Amino acid sequence: MNDKQGSWTLKKDRCKNCNICISFCPAGSLVIDEDGFPRQSEEIKCRQCGLCERWCPDFAIEVGGVFGAK
Ligand code: SF4
Ligand code: SF4
Repeated sequence: MNDKQGSWTLKKDRCKNCNICISFCPAGSLVIDEDGFPRQSEEIKCRQCGLCERWCPDFAIEVGGVFGAK
């Protein structure tokens, strides 16, 4: 678990900018960046709950790991 703490990864080529992840984030740590993609806020810390990964319809988010590393 320790080696995966604190990571949140977006695969932009899968993201359709639907903002579902932002709506479901209980921490409010996701914001829309200037390109329209979700990113982590600098002020609010991600809780690593995994909800955004679970609800993203396009499998564009990975929490607690790096794409391709599993
Ligand atoms: S839910 Fe998935 S597809 Fe929608 S904005 Fe978030 S990362 Fe992109
Ligand atoms: S893992 Fe949880 S707290 Fe972190 S961005 Fe996703 S929904 Fe928000």
